Amino acid sequence: MRPFTYERASSPAAAAEAVRRTPDARFIAGGTNLLDLMKLEIETPVHLVDVNGLKLDSVEPTPEGGLRIGALVRNTDLAADPRVRRDYGVLSRALLAGASGQLRNKATTAGNLLQRTRCPYFYDTNQPCNKRRPGSGCAAIGGFSRQLAVIGGSDTCIATHPSDMAVAMRVLDATVETVKPDGATRIIPIVDFHRLPDDTPHIETALEHGELITAVTLPKPAGGAQIYRKVRDRASYAFALVSVAAIVQPDGSGRVALGGVAPKPWRAEDAEAEMPRGAKAVAARLLADAKPTHDNAFKLPLVERTLGAVLAEAKG
Ligand SMILES: Cc1cc2nc3c(=O)[nH]c(=O)nc-3n(C[C@H](O)[C@H](O)[C@H](O)COP(=O)(O)OP(=O)(O)OC[C@H]3O[C@@H](n4cnc5c(N)ncnc54)[C@H](O)[C@@H]3O)c2cc1C
Ligand code: SF4
Repeated sequence: MRPFTYERASSPAAAAEAVRRTPDARFIAGGTNLLDLMKLEIETPVHLVDVNGLKLDSVEPTPEGGLRIGALVRNTDLAADPRVRRDYGVLSRALLAGASGQLRNKATTAGNLLQRTRCPYFYDTNQPCNKRRPGSGCAAIGGFSRQLAVIGGSDTCIATHPSDMAVAMRVLDATVETVKPDGATRIIPIVDFHRLPDDTPHIETALEHGELITAVTLPKPAGGAQIYRKVRDRASYAFALVSVAAIVQPDGSGRVALGGVAPKPWRAEDAEAEMPRGAKAVAARLLADAKPTHDNAFKLPLVERTLGAVLAEAKG
């Protein structure tokens, strides 16, 4: 690990300004992703701004009937919150499908959204990786790509986004609240928060340098049967090969988002019109532009079957 300096921030705006001042500074929350990346020298921040004391750790009702989740609410606490369990079951289930109990006790809402890909070549500093070192190439294209994206990738990167929680946030139409170093705040719809790689795979989100996430807001509950199903190589402590987050209404209409298949949580609202016609029709629309590799073509039928199981479960 490279040497770095450290400070505790006293307010959200002060935290944002402290990161802005130093080009290679980072916020640190639970540290469960960032510290691993620092130990492997994949990320080499020169300065860390600890945001854990910022009191952004409560879940509050909003005037619109939704919930405002502080950026520092731990994954364990969010999954167990009675309002989340009752009204946003897909989120509670997605959180509990991620990582392990110990990790979830530390991992935060903001850190979870910002965790970085698990592409094996991203972690191997001997390999070219456009995300780790822009312009160096992509070892995954033509390499071992079983876990990687079947849709939304580009000629420069086919990594997937690893978060389970983010897939549920996408199906729930969450919004991300931030504060910038000058104190200005903004609200980013989750659909615009994560970026596709195009030719800049190292730029993963809409955040600017120094912009701090303060909360994630959920709109009023959507009702329906809320299901998260994750398919992975091991029953626990593994990232998704394919996951499905779904909200299904009694008349068969609803919403669906996929994890494990794309560089961001994958949702196509036009595909949802097909839900009453069943999983095959929805999967065909969701994955219409898929470009799987030889190694990961299995994800296409896996999406259809996982979706089929979710729709059947929703029907009871
Ligand atoms: C062994 C292992 C297995 C895992 N399995 C899963 C899994 O199955 N599913 C899953 O979804 N996840 C999994 N994870 C990932 C885990 O969920 C993330 O590491 C965790 O959610 C990150 O949260 P954190 O608070 O620890 O983030 P940190 O590591 O502290 O930070 C992550 C990033 O977010 C930035 N950041 C943090 N807070 C803010 C903020 N408020 N504003 C702006 N930037 C911020 C940091 O600068 C950093 O870049 C696993 C992790 C490990 C180590
Ligand atoms: S897929 Fe993306 S993260 Fe993986 S090696 Fe290629 S550029 Fe790097």
